[in-house]
Amino acid sequence: EQKVVLITGCSSGIGLRIAVLLARDEHKRYHVIATMRDLRKKDRLVEAAGDTYGKTLTLLSLDVCSDDSVRQCIDSVKDRHIDILINNAGVGLLGPVESISMDEMKRVFETNFFGTVRMIKEVMPDMKKRRSGHIIVMSSVMGLQGVVFNDVYTASKFAIEGFCESMAVQLLKFNVKLSLIEPGPVHTEFETKMMEEVAKMEYPGADADTVRYFKDVYIPSSIDIFEALGHTPEDIAKCTKKVIESSRPRFRNLTNSLYTPIVAMKYADETGGLSVHTFYNLLFNFGSLMHITMSILKCLTCSCLRRRTISPD
Ligand code: NAD
Repeated sequence: EQKVVLITGCSSGIGLRIAVLLARDEHKRYHVIATMRDLRKKDRLVEAAGDTYGKTLTLLSLDVCSDDSVRQCIDSVKDRHIDILINNAGVGLLGPVESISMDEMKRVFETNFFGTVRMIKEVMPDMKKRRSGHIIVMSSVMGLQGVVFNDVYTASKFAIEGFCESMAVQLLKFNVKLSLIEPGPVHTEFETKMMEEVAKMEYPGADADTVRYFKDVYIPSSIDIFEALGHTPEDIAKCTKKVIESSRPRFRNLTNSLYTPIVAMKYADETGGLSVHTFYNLLFNFGSLMHITMSILKCLTCSCLRRRTISPD
């Protein structure tokens, strides 16, 4: 019996790779409904899907920000039956808060938080009725630890973590599983391009020092971190497949063991001082010594976090 998997945001990146990996499953265990806002952007997915397209993979249009679009899409699925819902659609936002409009900030929450909530609200009642189903939410390490100049993006991921932590309890009663995937940096063309563009932009409303810290300190060190620690979207797809196929999937799943120290700091010092000062030093004092600090921090990684990390291989 094939499982029906519906994935949001499949025109690029992680969503595209999850769709392809599941559609290509050698035992054909999945029927993938890959959704995207704009079906005109389907070419990359269709090409990557190869001969699975039209067989184990079908396409539907879905905008997570629209009630009508979500309702129509789910209604068009046979018996509204979805075994696995993968909430992947999301947008990033970088820069000094002073220069970001309230509307831009709301757009991030509309997609990352309310978009995911809208999907769960539409699909969960049928899962509860059937006493089966698995909801996956693409969170981030930034759903657990704040990162400078990612203030609003981080907040949107914290919000969805809180929502899911609360939902998981009642869903357990209905035998519906809920899992968060928490990738560290994922190396995509999109990310590097965005950072390069960001570095060129003006930041009206922010003072010169802040703009300098952002463009000349944060952006280069962030690119370094992506290069050094970044996973590929394929890695995240493999981790997600593992979570889906686990007989007892965990609630939280970090995917990048090199990044767990970032989260471990929070548990090592519950006053929050260690996290704030370490990030401060990484950004303003050490720069290229970052990797040394990272290795020292690695020692702090508690075993509970190691257990939580799932590797792509
Ligand atoms: P991406 O931009 O390639 O993919 C995001 C997809 O979501 C895009 O295809 C985009 O079109 C789609 N999308 C945006 N708004 C939408 C809407 N309203 N309705 C439907 N689809 C919409 O980037 P990605 O890195 O593959 O991101 C996928 C998920 O992984 C996101 O939730 C992101 O927050 C998360 N994530 C990314 C990273 C990273 O470093 N790239 C790290 C951790 C978590």
